[in-house]
Amino acid sequence: MAVREVVCLPEEVLRKKARKISEFNAGFQTLADDMVETMRLAPGVGLAAPQVDVSQRLIVVEYGEEEDEEAPKKLYVVANPEIVYFSEEQVMGIEGCLSIPGFAGEVLRAKEVVVKGQNRKGKPIKIKARDWLARIFQHEIDHLDGVLYIDRSEKVWKMEEEPDSPIPIDC
Ligand code: ZN
Repeated sequence: MAVREVVCLPEEVLRKKARKISEFNAGFQTLADDMVETMRLAPGVGLAAPQVDVSQRLIVVEYGEEEDEEAPKKLYVVANPEIVYFSEEQVMGIEGCLSIPGFAGEVLRAKEVVVKGQNRKGKPIKIKARDWLARIFQHEIDHLDGVLYIDRSEKVWKMEEEPDSPIPIDC
């Protein structure tokens, strides 16, 4: 495994629609492993392939439901993820992005989503997510379409201005 460099705005790859993954070959497995390692080192709770300069539809998410940092976290590696259900109920939350260092912003997101995609072997998977996990999936899947949280936020600020801000999404 290797840590990859995270690209930041204004890199064009962050604004492109990423390609569908059709082969679950060795190169794909290496990319998935590298993304997990890169996310953990950052540290972050999610990462999308365009953030490591690969325009492909792959995301990794690692998040523990518990407040307790020692509690086990669940790792999701999802190829070709698609949100097939958004709850009508929306919640405001504060997000940041590894590709937009030093900034955070308020974003309104669906409280619950259902994500369909494929696992590392290419098998279909379905994930029901709510609250913060749902937010992470929405943020990461947006990356695959070249959409960033700042596009959805009406209030973005420099982190230094509000040092007590909650920990943002993939920073
Ligand atoms: Zn991001």
